[in-house]
Amino acid sequence: MASSEAEIVSAAKSFAALVERHDLHGLLFQHVALCERRAWLHMNRVDYAHLEEKMRLGSVSHELHKPRDHSVEGLLGISPDRIDWDARKVIEAKGSAGARDAVSMQTRFYALMLSAATGSGWSAANEIIGKKKVLKVSLLLEDAQLMIDLARRLGDISEMKVAPAAARRPICDSCSYRHLCGYA
Ligand code: SF4
Repeated sequence: MASSEAEIVSAAKSFAALVERHDLHGLLFQHVALCERRAWLHMNRVDYAHLEEKMRLGSVSHELHKPRDHSVEGLLGISPDRIDWDARKVIEAKGSAGARDAVSMQTRFYALMLSAATGSGWSAANEIIGKKKVLKVSLLLEDAQLMIDLARRLGDISEMKVAPAAARRPICDSCSYRHLCGYA
């Protein structure tokens, strides 16, 4: 059954309250969808972006290709790449279509936060840099509920004194945290 706008906005408000309570941000949702251990490392600022060439080049390329939308600075601390206020649509640019589910979490985060702030339903999409490809991000009630569950889980992770254990998985080979994680 299709979700009504009122249901989505109500769920978005519950989500925004959790985000505020646990001081969360969009990228954490991408990390936790991939790996809880990675989310903990990011949350605790255990990273080496300034040392790793791939991460450094990725962030420079991102900034050059898609300047961020400055119209939302100061609004709930969120900063998606582009916002179409008339169409109520948020667009996040990504370097590739890989890990699509995880990437969608961050974009969904922005759309839910804007839905909560404005009291209207927002849609979301990921734009793949250089490919002129726009992928719609699902924002049904079940998607909002999943984000609420992830926000609760991130709240639990934020209380942990050490990184949660995680099983080794294929993504570990390309994970930017692999040398810090101990699973390199
Ligand atoms: S290397 Fe693997 S287990 Fe470690 S943080 Fe990355 S994804 Fe998680």
